Amino acid sequence: MLFVQKFGGSSVANVERIQNVARRVAKAASAGNQVVVIVSAMGDTTDDLIDLVKKLSDRPPEREYDVLLSTGEIVSAALLATALQAMGHKAVSMTGTQIGIRTDGVYTKAKIVDIDASRIRKELDKGFIVTVAGFQGMDERGDITTLGRGGSDTTAVALAAALKADVCEIFTDVDGVYTADPRIVPAAQKLPAIAYDEMLELATAGARVMQSRSIEFGAKFGVRIHVRSSFHEGEGTMIQSSGAGMEQVLIRGVAHDTEEAKITVTDVPDRPGIAAEIFGALADARISVDVIVQTATENDTNDISFTVGKADLSRALDIVKAATKKIGGGDVAADENIAKVSIVGVAMAQHSGVAATMFRTLAAEKINIQMITTSEIRISVIIDKARVADAARALHTAFGLDKR
Ligand code: ADP
Ligand code: ASP
Ligand code: MG
Repeated sequence: MLFVQKFGGSSVANVERIQNVARRVAKAASAGNQVVVIVSAMGDTTDDLIDLVKKLSDRPPEREYDVLLSTGEIVSAALLATALQAMGHKAVSMTGTQIGIRTDGVYTKAKIVDIDASRIRKELDKGFIVTVAGFQGMDERGDITTLGRGGSDTTAVALAAALKADVCEIFTDVDGVYTADPRIVPAAQKLPAIAYDEMLELATAGARVMQSRSIEFGAKFGVRIHVRSSFHEGEGTMIQSSGAGMEQVLIRGVAHDTEEAKITVTDVPDRPGIAAEIFGALADARISVDVIVQTATENDTNDISFTVGKADLSRALDIVKAATKKIGGGDVAADENIAKVSIVGVAMAQHSGVAATMFRTLAAEKINIQMITTSEIRISVIIDKARVADAARALHTAFGLDKR
């Protein structure tokens, strides 16, 4: 069998853990399997590198930022190959560039366009365990790009698809995918299985256990993804097409996200083309906008509020201020003290009253809803950041998800 295994940052945080990972990988290889191992940067390395470069520049040049961040995973890949060799196994490390992960040119959040798996195949056929630096690729110009926070998940699933691996195992610091982040909802339960579309919505809504783009790959190529603990052998959660192993429930899970900020533009003229002006300028800068609310005020003007990722906030503010000036709008303000809480479930599409239950639950907790957005299988609200844990717990209970 061909195994693709991915170990996250906390699983390779120090020498002992790297040796632990090496033992686990070696076990799969010794059982006669071919193994490709994707690793993340050790512990908080990526955050530390960001802090470091920010000491030199408020807005570091994106090309250099990506070169810098990519080094974290290269360290892990080299150390893991070394640990494996020290244990007597044949192992070789590869960077994203070496294995031909081609991406578009959007630094800090590049998308994989193509993988040439031939080099990995060659090494596997020679009997090597291949350790791969996650989270990175190379654009058309040959420059290093990174895939967005949590991007090693996407490296793993994309490689599993390219290699037609039998399974893609995501080893992490929790036992699997839970009905909510177990760190803020203690009553959360581990799910034996979850459908791609539900996992995609949870991930998009902030459940950081899997990067959302990895689930898009998984669904597209039918990769069987097993999310499990790197610290013990227990079964985790299978991410797969809906069906086997999945309980019929109205709500599969609750997600929260504290990585967004709200921008409010007041007193913009009420005429066609205004929203296009503001959001067009943001799109040109590749800044994605999440929740949008427009409210009409007196005297033919509107207030427009929307959320963007915190990492994009400072750039977004500059762009929105310039656009607002051009169209003759009023003030532009930012609020970082917000959070998004979402409920997700495929069955939601066939049931009425789900939104009402959600809003009633939040009202009973005296949690004010600032903005609302929905998809067919998700409802999200923007609330005060200070109440995010209360909101997640209350919704988890209200929709019957608490472990008994
Ligand atoms: P890794 O470094 O292994 O990639 P991450 O920190 O990116 O790990 O993701 C694992 C974390 O995701 C967990 O520690 C947990 O706090 C968080 N998390 C958020 N939502 C969920 C969920 N629904 N199920 C499991 N973990 C979740
Ligand atoms: N090291 C990167 C991050 O912290 C990528 C990853 O861990 O998947 O976001
Ligand atoms: Mg992660």
